[in-house]
Amino acid sequence: MAQSAVPAPETAAHPAPVRIPLREVLPWAVFAAVLGAVLIYFIGAEQGATSVFSGTWVHEFTHDGRHLLGFPCH
Ligand SMILES: [Zn+2]
Repeated sequence: MAQSAVPAPETAAHPAPVRIPLREVLPWAVFAAVLGAVLIYFIGAEQGATSVFSGTWVHEFTHDGRHLLGFPCH
């Protein structure tokens, strides 16, 4: 199959970029930011005086992540 030497401007090889409106992305970005903040809290600060849940099970569950992210632990 022969190809043309001069590429067409909007062909399958060079598709037009997909536009994603900010109004569609913003709620998901806020959701991801809140979820990330909650995860960072549980990994980094859920122990001792700042703990929401009693006991150490959340700390033990996220212990490897704590060390992976460089939070002070023990
Ligand atoms: Zn540790």
